[in-house]
Amino acid sequence: MKLLQGKTVLVTGGSTGIGRAAAIGAAKAGADVAINYRSSSAEAESCIAEIEAAGQRGLAVQGDVADPAVAGEFIAKAVEGFGKVDVMVSNAGICPFHSFLDMPVETVQRTMNVNLLGGYFMCQAAARQMVEQGHGGAIVAVSSISALVGGEYQTHYTPTKAGLHSLMQSAAIALGKHNIRCNSVLPGTILTEINKDDLADMEKRARMEARIPLGRLGAAEDLAGPIVFLASDMASYVTGAALLVDGGAFVNLQ
Ligand code: NAD
Repeated sequence: MKLLQGKTVLVTGGSTGIGRAAAIGAAKAGADVAINYRSSSAEAESCIAEIEAAGQRGLAVQGDVADPAVAGEFIAKAVEGFGKVDVMVSNAGICPFHSFLDMPVETVQRTMNVNLLGGYFMCQAAARQMVEQGHGGAIVAVSSISALVGGEYQTHYTPTKAGLHSLMQSAAIALGKHNIRCNSVLPGTILTEINKDDLADMEKRARMEARIPLGRLGAAEDLAGPIVFLASDMASYVTGAALLVDGGAFVNLQ
């Protein structure tokens, strides 16, 4: 029996990076998967092809998560396609590095709107659907190690990730009576598009790797297992928790 057999899993920002790895991981674990994507239909289609290659149904729905209306539309499309929603993986995010003192207002607002408010409305819309269905569910927010530590050029980003972590704790309390579990994963540094430019400096990368107990930066696929686990009944008594997936980086910060 596969871990997510018979489940319907939704992933925001599911066409690339961690979201894509989670979507394909969920399909390999037996779920039908709907992904939200922002703009590239080619990336979304190639992700759907991989979901189908795993023997599951896939559905791609375009939408900007910063628009609160998009959350309801994504849920409605998934229900139309698959009949129900069992799992929401709220993953879509941006991280435009910038110094604090001259941070543009628009950059702060956009980052908050995409990362935190987008996550909020997606999780709320999924929870409403799960409550209506009446058979529980799971929400996994892709937060960050940045929820726990600061970042000089991420003053607009780290509060959004701490906020998502906090949202999962509060939602766990609000939704426990409906058997909807809410957890977050806290990735360390994972090599994806989001930090490609920042990590192009190989010396910087080597310094970072030297501090990571497992000796390497993460790959998007490193998040698939932890997300599938938290989404599955294997984690049936886990809610309000945050799972660091960082190669041990957090415990070696001194
Ligand atoms: P990524 O850039 O590949 O993925 C981000 C995804 O979100 C992309 O598919 C992008 O199109 C989508 N997205 C961005 N804005 C959107 C919007 N307004 N509406 C819909 N989709 C939108 O990078 P990634 O590293 O896979 O990032 C995924 C998540 O993981 C992000 O929330 C990020 O903050 C988080 N994270 C990443 C790292 C890392 O080191 N890569 C570490 C901690 C947390």
